[in-house]
Amino acid sequence: MSEVFKGSFTQQEPIPEDGIAAALDVMRSGRLHRYNLVGDEAGETALLEREFADYTGATYALAVTSGGYALATALRAVGVQPGHKVLSNAFTLAPVPGAIASVGAVPVFVGVTENLTIDLEDLQAKADQADVLLLSHMRGHLCDMERLMAICEAADVTVIEDCAHTMGAAWKGVASGRWGKVGCYSTQTYKHINSGEGGFLITDDAEIAAKATILSGSYMLYARHGTTPPEDVFERVKYDTPNVSGRMDHLRAAILRPQLARLETQCAAWNDRYAVVEEGVRGTPGLTVVERPEEETYVGSSIQVLLLDWQDSAIADVIARCLARGVELKWFGGAEPKGFTSRYDSWRYAPSAPMPDTDRVLRSILDMRLPLTFSLEDCAQIARIIRAEVGAVYQAA
Ligand SMILES: *Cc1c(COP(=O)(O)O)cnc(C)c1O
Repeated sequence: MSEVFKGSFTQQEPIPEDGIAAALDVMRSGRLHRYNLVGDEAGETALLEREFADYTGATYALAVTSGGYALATALRAVGVQPGHKVLSNAFTLAPVPGAIASVGAVPVFVGVTENLTIDLEDLQAKADQADVLLLSHMRGHLCDMERLMAICEAADVTVIEDCAHTMGAAWKGVASGRWGKVGCYSTQTYKHINSGEGGFLITDDAEIAAKATILSGSYMLYARHGTTPPEDVFERVKYDTPNVSGRMDHLRAAILRPQLARLETQCAAWNDRYAVVEEGVRGTPGLTVVERPEEETYVGSSIQVLLLDWQDSAIADVIARCLARGVELKWFGGAEPKGFTSRYDSWRYAPSAPMPDTDRVLRSILDMRLPLTFSLEDCAQIARIIRAEVGAVYQAA
């Protein structure tokens, strides 16, 4: 009998008890709105903003309703206008081009390499087409950030980082989100801290922070934020910045604060699981492990392997056989968008020329989440199943 994995790829850990207790306190108070404060109380949301700024080393942190909202707010705050072009990754998730489209701008897709990072040659070639790059550190893979920043600085391109999968990650010791002008994060259930929905935006730029704060729906209550730019900066921007309501509330902030405090331990736990799967599948004939560069500090909350230059039908076979044994692999090569997974050519509101090298990589990507509810033994079993099924299909081909 071949072994079958029984775990759930979508089961997260519970919210820590101190987070639950803090959430109950907020609910008992009835004051859930971030500006509903008593006396000189700071409130959970402002405290979370301070803690997130401390955690990242940024001057300003703003808590908002979602990662996608943070991205759109960052685009608006750096001055993207309807009709502008914005460079972004061809390999990412739909909310990234969606954020660009939501401000009326037009994505220009940049290819992906076999390392699953943005193709810097392609970026160099396209850098003169836009003033902004919305860089998605998709599935936690960081490119050579020094080279990327050099390309963007030379072309006068402002970088906004999508750190939905890189909260806790760094390149050469500098945190993701701290290379570009703005860093954006998600606290949605499948990311590194979990409030159901939620997000952050960080920056050192006082004007971007002030605009983002007003955009997020601060009204004129911006002084109640955790990290507030000087009043004169608000004076400059407050009449011209629309309120595009998207605040975080105290309830979400209350459950995030204890999780942020534990994030480092959680990241280590993800990396333990990642290492077990990586070692377990390494050397499987026909399968390519994505080697992680020494300069990269990553958070292995998901793992990707490549079946480069396989027939689509053989890849589909691997996926079906793994699924039959309880291992759910997502495929970025599928012609039709499915679940959370879609391809740049399925975002038809953002027309693009075909990118054959990128298509070759996308077609080959098998992607799997590693929730912390999996034990190390679960991870070893998952790797054995993938190894066996990839091997069986590869041999038959
Ligand atoms: C989840 C995600 C987002 C959007 O975050 P939400 O909080 O779901 O809006 C953006 N980019 C990437 C790469 C994501 O995975």
